[in-house]
Amino acid sequence: MNADEFRRRGKEMVDYVADYLEGIEARQVYPDVEPGYLRPLIPPTAPQEPDTFEDIINDVEKIIMPGVTHWHSPYFFAYFPTASSYPAMLADMLCGAIGCIGFSWAASPACTELETVMMDWLGRMLQLPEAFLAGEAGEGGGVIQGSASEATLVALLAARTKVTRRLQTTSPGLTQAAVMEKLVAYASDQAHSSVERAGLIGGVKLKAIPSDGKFALRASALQEALERDKAAGLIPFFFAVLYQFPVHSTVLRSYKYTQKFIFFFFTVVATLGTTSCCSFDNLLEVGPVCHKEGVWLHVDAAYAGSAFICPEFRHLLDGVEFADSFNFNPHKWLLVNFDCSAMWVKKRTDLTGAFKLDPVYLKHSHQDSGLITDYRHWQLPLGRRFRSLKMWFVFRLYGVTGLQAYIRKHVQLSHEFEFLVRQDPRFEICAEVTLGLVCFRLKGPNSRNEALLERINSARKIHLVPCHLRDQFVLRFAICSRTVESAHVRLAWEHIRGLAAELLGAEKE
Ligand SMILES: *Cc1c(COP(=O)(O)O)cnc(C)c1O
Repeated sequence: MNADEFRRRGKEMVDYVADYLEGIEARQVYPDVEPGYLRPLIPPTAPQEPDTFEDIINDVEKIIMPGVTHWHSPYFFAYFPTASSYPAMLADMLCGAIGCIGFSWAASPACTELETVMMDWLGRMLQLPEAFLAGEAGEGGGVIQGSASEATLVALLAARTKVTRRLQTTSPGLTQAAVMEKLVAYASDQAHSSVERAGLIGGVKLKAIPSDGKFALRASALQEALERDKAAGLIPFFFAVLYQFPVHSTVLRSYKYTQKFIFFFFTVVATLGTTSCCSFDNLLEVGPVCHKEGVWLHVDAAYAGSAFICPEFRHLLDGVEFADSFNFNPHKWLLVNFDCSAMWVKKRTDLTGAFKLDPVYLKHSHQDSGLITDYRHWQLPLGRRFRSLKMWFVFRLYGVTGLQAYIRKHVQLSHEFEFLVRQDPRFEICAEVTLGLVCFRLKGPNSRNEALLERINSARKIHLVPCHLRDQFVLRFAICSRTVESAHVRLAWEHIRGLAAELLGAEKE
């Protein structure tokens, strides 16, 4: 493909994309295919001689689209939204064209510098405490990670390194393995599964703290867990070490020196906007406990974070000043297409100190000047795309007021759905509706709700996923699409009511 053909095909592709998104409502939101549907439709090997562009485009409709779940359909109410906007798509084209790998400042200065400034812009939109911003010479700063899962893992690994080094300074001879064995991280029982995975990958215990009646993590529950682990950790643990490593007297001695550190709580992950029901951990309570105990506090607001650009929702972020790291996904609800997960730390050296390696082929002449950022030290991979372009395009073309209006519209639609559900005495609302998610169910047994969801998803008109809240099976209705309107929400509700009536009728027979 040469430049002339690229121009022509590029314009065709833009038309195809615009047609797809404009016409998406007419497509069935969830595909009919069975696992393995695709392999028989395409050859077993790549073509020896080139195919034509027309061949490929025809196959998109024939082979790909029948197996696509249309996340941007206004009848898609599953999971959480994934962002989509035209400015972000155009910026991603430019990102592909520049095609740089911005692992260090020198590897592409604009890629690094725009990211630092965009993360400050976004931090100011949320009114994050100044300590999280890079500014001209701040100690904090933001970085774009690929996902909230990576952000949690990076925070956990940085916290692990920090506490290990601290303990090794106070008691030389204490091995990393000995520390690792005793590290405990905490999160609420409502935390996303990615937090538990971070614990598994990071090789540390992760304890789930019971949330309260509103599915929030409270200080009392956290404090209780800390006290219990402290009490349990002291003596039994000491004997455990004695039993397992009888010959390692240095280890033993260092443990004696550091008895007060025999239990190492090192990190708490608090969630603002949990995945099941969008509940909020009480940061103003949990924050001071972490502060007092010297525990790293990571705040995961993957979905809800976008709403904090609206002054009326900003109070949900109160207490973030106690956090060491904070993360949310503009790629969920802020119109910046996947992948764009925004992470801030108060002390950038916590990250760069934990993961820094400087092989000679990656060195450059400015790196020790203190003026520049080498983002490779802030993340797991080396390579990174020019993702801040998407933020720059979206923030400039929508403006803060445009973004706020978008959030408000979604919140209003979820309250509209909540209102409709509350009018029907056969149904109940299962958790407080704060942002764009409504958790609801038919009154009665879980089996009834499982059957309802089965009917909803096999009818293929709308798409929902369930969750468990305590022992209840609950349906989640998330406002997702950029183009969803009140009419779609009302149609969805009428459809659900119709299926519920059929189900309850069939139960009676
Ligand atoms: C969606 C979500 C995640 C996972 O986000 P990824 O970016 O896909 O890793 C983590 N935590 C919460 C609270 C979420 O809502």
